[in-house]
Amino acid sequence: MMNIPGSKPTWTASKPVGMKDTARAAELLSMRLPPSLAVFARLAYDFAAFWSTEGRQLFAEIDPHTWSLCENNPVRLLSETQVSTLVRAAENTELVARAEALERSLHAEHTRPFTDAKGVSPDRPVAFFCSEFGIYQSLPIYSGGLGVLAGDLLKESSDRGFPMVGMGLYYRNGYFHQQIDRTGWQKEFWIETPPHRVPLALVTDEWGLPKTVRVPIRGEEVVLQIWRAAVGRCSLYLLDSTRPENSLVARWLTHRLYDSEREVRLAQYALLGLGGVRVMAALGITPSVVHLNEGHAALAIFELARQGIESGLSKEAALRAARERLVFTTHTPVPAGNESYSPEQLWQVLGHLPEELGLSHQEVLDQGRIHPGDEGEPLGLTVLALRGSRKANGVSKIHGEVARGMWRSLWPDRDEAEVPISHITNGVHLPTWMAPPMREVLDRHLGQGWVERAADPATWKPVDDIPDGEIWAARNAMRANAIEFAQYHGMSAALRRSEALSRIEATGGGSLAPDVLTIGFARRLAKYKRLDLLASDGLRFQDLLRAEQHVQFLIAGKAHPLDDEAKQILRNATASLATIDDVMGHAGFVEDYDLKVAGRLVAGCDVWLNLPRPPMEASGTSGMKSMFNGGLNLSVLDGWWAEACDGSNGWGIPAEFDGDEAGRDQRDAQIVYEILAKEVVPLFYDRDASGVPRGWVRMIKASLRTNGPRYCMTRMLDEYVRKVYSRS
Ligand SMILES: *Cc1c(COP(=O)(O)O)cnc(C)c1O
Repeated sequence: MMNIPGSKPTWTASKPVGMKDTARAAELLSMRLPPSLAVFARLAYDFAAFWSTEGRQLFAEIDPHTWSLCENNPVRLLSETQVSTLVRAAENTELVARAEALERSLHAEHTRPFTDAKGVSPDRPVAFFCSEFGIYQSLPIYSGGLGVLAGDLLKESSDRGFPMVGMGLYYRNGYFHQQIDRTGWQKEFWIETPPHRVPLALVTDEWGLPKTVRVPIRGEEVVLQIWRAAVGRCSLYLLDSTRPENSLVARWLTHRLYDSEREVRLAQYALLGLGGVRVMAALGITPSVVHLNEGHAALAIFELARQGIESGLSKEAALRAARERLVFTTHTPVPAGNESYSPEQLWQVLGHLPEELGLSHQEVLDQGRIHPGDEGEPLGLTVLALRGSRKANGVSKIHGEVARGMWRSLWPDRDEAEVPISHITNGVHLPTWMAPPMREVLDRHLGQGWVERAADPATWKPVDDIPDGEIWAARNAMRANAIEFAQYHGMSAALRRSEALSRIEATGGGSLAPDVLTIGFARRLAKYKRLDLLASDGLRFQDLLRAEQHVQFLIAGKAHPLDDEAKQILRNATASLATIDDVMGHAGFVEDYDLKVAGRLVAGCDVWLNLPRPPMEASGTSGMKSMFNGGLNLSVLDGWWAEACDGSNGWGIPAEFDGDEAGRDQRDAQIVYEILAKEVVPLFYDRDASGVPRGWVRMIKASLRTNGPRYCMTRMLDEYVRKVYSRS
C-alpha cells in the first residue's frame, strides 16, 4: 500500500511509530565515529543494552572516566570522548566483536513474537501513563519509587514480549539535585538535559518534520512534540512543549518534574492526560487498556470521552466506553499526596473542557468528587481516576485495605470490604537491580535461563546448596564497592563545601571500612519515614556505634524542596553524627539519591533499614532490591515487608500499637536498638574458621528462596496481566 503523506500511521508493537527515527538518530551519531564503532551508536539508543552487565561494561571500557562523568549516558560518551580514545577503541577488535555479539543477542530477543493476552495484542497494546519514568540514570526524568517502578515494568514487558507502550513527559530540567551546605541544610539545583543529548529520537512524519499534537491549556493551543525512547522492545513516548510556537509559560510546563507551583503541575497533568491520549491517536495507537499509574494522568478520561463523542457516541456512552478502557493503580496512602483542585483552579487551566464534552461545569467536576453535587468540593485526581476506571488497585495487601478505607465514601452503599479496590504488590526488575557479583553466583547455580523463570519458587530451590563461601565473597565484594563509592562521594561533597582539607582527609569517609557490618537507610526524606528514629536515643545510638563489634551506616535521601520539616530532620541527623567525635566516619551521607546511588547502596548494604510510621508505606521497593543482592531487611511490618517477613528471612518491627505517636516512635526506636544489638550484630560477626558467618548466610539464603520469586517484576507483570489487563 502506498504511504500517503499525512495519512494515519498504523502502529504495532513490532513496528512502532518512531522506530525509523531511532535508527536515524543512531546513524547520525555513528557519522562522528570511526566506522567500526557504528555498532556502539546503535546500542546507545536501545536501553535494553544497559540492563545487561555486558552492555554497561562495553561502554565503560571505551573510556571509564568519561562514562562516569557523563552519568552513563552513551550518546554523550560517544559525542564527548576524545577522538584518539575512540580510534583506540575502534582498533580493539575484541571490544567491537563483543559489541556485535551483544547486538545480535538483543536483536534475537527483540524479534521474538509478542504475547497475545486476552484482548491485549501487538496492535492493541496496554498504554501505561505515568508522570515519571526511571529507566536508567542517563534519562533523568524520575524522582523516586513511582518512576522506578514504571521503568522496571516497561523493561520487564520488553523482556517478556508483552505489548506495552509508555506515555510520559520529557522534563528538560528533570528532578532537583541535592547538595548539603556547611550547616547541614539541603540546597536544590536543576540541570538542563537537552533531549538530543540523551538516547531519545524525535518522532517525525513522512516529510521528516516533527510530529506534533495540540492541547488547549490556559487558553493557549500548546504544541507538543514527541520523543521516543526504545526501552528494548517497548516504546516510551515523551511529550515536550519546548516548541517555538509556544509561549514562554507553555514551554516551561515540561521543564521540572513535580514543579512546586500547583497551577504548573495541573497543566502538566493535563498535558500528560489529555495530550497523551491525543498522541496515541496521532501515532495510530489503539490501546486495549489505558493504565493510569497514580492519578496524575486522570484527565485522560475526558479526552477518551471526547474522542468517543466525536465518533458519534452520546456523552453518557462515551464516558462509559472510556471507563471500560481505563485501569488505575493508586500509590498514596497519605491524604495530602492525593491532589485536588478547586473549580476556579481547574477552569483557569482547562476552561474549554465542559464545552468540548457537551457537559456542564458541574457534571465535569462531579466526575472527580466524592459527593457529586457538593459544590464546595474540589476535583480530586484520585477520585477522578477511581470513578473513571473499570479496575483499581493498591500496591500491597495492607495498602489495598488502607485504600478501601480511605475511599469507601465513594461507594456509600457498600461495606468497606466490598469497595472495588484490590491490590497487586510491587516488584522490581531483577536484571536491573541484581549487581554482577550476586548475578554471577546465581548464574552458576540456578541453571540456564533462570531469570525468565524467576517467578517460579522452584527456580530458587538450589539457593540452599550454594556454598556459603561463594555468597559471602559476593557480599564482601559488593560491600567494598559501596564503601568506596560512599567515600569518594563523601570527600567530593566535603571539598565542594570548602571544608578544611585536614578534616576531610581525617574523616572524609576514611573510617568507613569495607568489612564492617553496613546498614543502609536510603529513601525520600519525608517525616513519616522517620530517619530521626535512629539517633533519637543518643546514648543507645552511641553505644551501638562504639561497640567493639562495629556497625556503620550509609544514609541517602532527598527532602521535598518545600518540606522544611524534613530538611530539619536531615540537618539534625547529619549534625548528630558529626558532633560525636568517635562516631565520625561510622556513618556516611551520600548526596543526591538517584538510580546510581540506589544501585550501589542496595547492593552493598548488609542490612536494609526501613522505619515508616505504619500504615504510610504503600509498598516500598528498595528493600526488594536489597533482598536480591543478599541484603537482609530490618523494617516495620508495613507495605511489602508485612507480607514477606516470616521470621527466618529478616527482622520485623510490629506495626500494631495503640499509644500516641511519640510513644510509638520511642517504642520502635528501642526495638530497633534491641534487634541490632542482640541479633543482627552478633549474627554478622559469628564466623567459622574460614571467616564465613554461617548463620548470616543461612538467613540470606532463606531471604532469596522465599522472597526471590515473589518480589521480582516478572511476578508483578504476570499478576497485572491476569487480574487487570486481560478480559476474562
Ligand atoms: C527504588 C527506589 C526508590 C523507592 O524505594 P522505597 O523503598 O519505596 O523508598 C526511590 N528512589 C530510587 C532512586 C530508587 O531506586
